[in-house]
Amino acid sequence: MKIIDSHVHLYPPAVSRDPAAWAAAEGEMHWATLSTRRRRDGRPVQGFPGLDDLLRAMDAASVQRAILQGWYWNRPESCVAQNRFYADCIRAHPDRLSACGAFHPGLGEEGALAEVRRMKAEGFVGLGELSPHSQGYAVDDRIFRAVLTLAGELNFPVTLHVTDPDSRSYPGRVDTPLDDFVRLAGEYPQIHFILAHWGGLLPLRDLTAVTLANVYYDTAASPLLYDSTIWQRFSAAVGAGRILFGSDFPLNLYPKLDSDSAMIRLVDEARGAGLEPAKLDALLEGNAARLFRL
Ligand SMILES: [Zn+2]
Repeated sequence: MKIIDSHVHLYPPAVSRDPAAWAAAEGEMHWATLSTRRRRDGRPVQGFPGLDDLLRAMDAASVQRAILQGWYWNRPESCVAQNRFYADCIRAHPDRLSACGAFHPGLGEEGALAEVRRMKAEGFVGLGELSPHSQGYAVDDRIFRAVLTLAGELNFPVTLHVTDPDSRSYPGRVDTPLDDFVRLAGEYPQIHFILAHWGGLLPLRDLTAVTLANVYYDTAASPLLYDSTIWQRFSAAVGAGRILFGSDFPLNLYPKLDSDSAMIRLVDEARGAGLEPAKLDALLEGNAARLFRL
């Protein structure tokens, strides 16, 4: 069985070399707060691995393909730079990597649409990880809407960052009202939305969300948010056909156990969750293959 990790982040060497200095120079302090912070015990929340490190982590976890997800940058220039870096990555490893692109309304309508068309030409498979709430624009922002309309035409799934309303406070945490995602899903039935981090448990809180046929959920950062009963609970409520395996690499998923992202341990957690084999297959590969047309 193949495994697709639908939620992986990677940064250009210029970013990874000295993340804090890069962020200060480029005005990406929100990203720096989330990505360069240390836990109370002094350990960093993540490392800054390169492309080869990612491929090695995938090999160790038997992950055949990773979907690179863009970041919700403060500045349009950072989005464009990461998109071009991702274009290089998927060109170098088309058998292992796919990419979803970053977007910022500061690109302007024409610039944003041109950027999305460029992604399509470069072989990208979707948009994400987007976060209007973190980037400071409304979900009815005109340019965002124009981009969503184009995403629908291009069959681009859209991955959105979701914060659990009940999650504890942490530096850089941004509230993402769940109603906004329900509204978007209703207004764009032609788009497959993937709500990251189990969608903040949206469908467990609001049963009407279960009926949104175009809404999917990924498991990114799961062990940092929920215990391992989440796999069973969520698939019982929503159906395994709506869940995509995602790690949130290079985030350190099990800080008490590992010093790196431990993608392999999350795969083991999924396999050990007691799901029926067909459901596990769908979650680990089939759903992502279908949505991203892989
Ligand atoms: Zn996220």
